[in-house]
Amino acid sequence: MKAFFALFSLTVAVIGQDKPNLIVIMTDDMGYADVGFNGCKDIPTPHIDSIASNGVRFTSGYVAYSVCGPSRAAFITGRYGQRFGFERNPQYRTQDENMGLPLDEDTIASAAPAGLLFLIGKWHLGATKKHHPLKRGFQEFYGHLGGGHQYMPEMLNIEDSYAAKDEPQSYRTWILKDHKPVPPRKYLTDDFSDEAVSFIERNHNKPFFLFLSYNAPHTPLQAPQKYLDRFLNLKDKKRKTYAAMVSAVDDGVGRVLSSLKKNQINQNTIIFFLSDNGGPTTKNGSNNAPLRGNKGDAWEGGWRVPFAVQWPLGLPKGKEYDHPVVSLDIMATIAARAEAPISTDRPLDGVNLIPFLTGKKEGAPHQGIFLRKFDSGSTAVRSGNHKLVTYEKKDFTGLYDLHEDIGESKNIRDQSPEEISQLKMLWKNWNKSNIDPVFKGLIHTPAWQKKRNQATRKKAKTDHK
Ligand code: CA
Repeated sequence: MKAFFALFSLTVAVIGQDKPNLIVIMTDDMGYADVGFNGCKDIPTPHIDSIASNGVRFTSGYVAYSVCGPSRAAFITGRYGQRFGFERNPQYRTQDENMGLPLDEDTIASAAPAGLLFLIGKWHLGATKKHHPLKRGFQEFYGHLGGGHQYMPEMLNIEDSYAAKDEPQSYRTWILKDHKPVPPRKYLTDDFSDEAVSFIERNHNKPFFLFLSYNAPHTPLQAPQKYLDRFLNLKDKKRKTYAAMVSAVDDGVGRVLSSLKKNQINQNTIIFFLSDNGGPTTKNGSNNAPLRGNKGDAWEGGWRVPFAVQWPLGLPKGKEYDHPVVSLDIMATIAARAEAPISTDRPLDGVNLIPFLTGKKEGAPHQGIFLRKFDSGSTAVRSGNHKLVTYEKKDFTGLYDLHEDIGESKNIRDQSPEEISQLKMLWKNWNKSNIDPVFKGLIHTPAWQKKRNQATRKKAKTDHK
């Protein structure tokens, strides 16, 4: 009898709401190795891990760029940012209408299920009123417009977000609820988690899309004592604070999952979890092992990230998926589910993953996954087990078999000239539809930043030896 009622209530839930809800949980600058499902030992992430164990873990999950802004622009449009010139991190310019996601690009909000569309957390796709999330398809917003933020309420001392003159000032603004600044409440990660739970509690009876875009564990490294106390065994101060920040995110993910269960909508909710780029290990204490490189690189550590999805009603449970996938696939997957019309002159670069994950389709979803960094002259293409990396300014070409050598330590370019030609051709074909960057990004690098960048590069070199 009990089983009958359980089945009955599940059927009602499914009939009552045909289209699945969508939640995308994105972390910021989290290392590949910093979740339990990728082998992390010193930071427990049971709730994040449960997404992988209840669904699919992507072992080769990529984002489309190795720093925040362009990676997010690609995710949110389902198109490589190079297609529309978004190839640099936008700086906080509240009057610069060029500095952000081009206004003629559609966003994932247009492909999401009908119903409420809520963005919580980091935006980083333009700080002008024209670029505001509410102008880009979202119906509610609670977050910050810039590339990062202070976490402690006492640090938020600029009330008007649009009064911030530069990036550092934008870190100290009050959080915006839609267009209205709200007085600081609590530790920012907990504040964002509260908003996510409150949103689900208010809207569980209609389809929704929630983009929960934590700015953690991006710098500045800050965490309240209650989270730090969980890591008394960690002696490295940076790693300890980073761990506390990740732990706060994991608590938030747990609360979101509980709220879905309580309201009996967890079965028909698709939840993606991923980081927006690889960890900048020397800056925030993250860990990309066994991958080579860091945030910003064309090496795997720059753009291969923790990535998982669950959808109990439509996907297998506890599956590992090894073919390369990319954050661009999220929009394509959702658009296919929602049968959303896609503009023919701005085709999606992603693929609907559902048939691949259920086994209906075989083979690799992508012929290649691509990276181009205009300013540094670096490129990469991943195809099958092979990856080609070039650093034009250093006249460097590297070919790696990632199945045998995930750490990109054995350059096999001399053994496989044909493979190199094929990968180069693939990349060139992809690059044909790309344009040059449409805004400048960081206009002036302050002296302290230059010094820190130099130190980071030096340390990264030493670490890799
Ligand atoms: Ca980031």
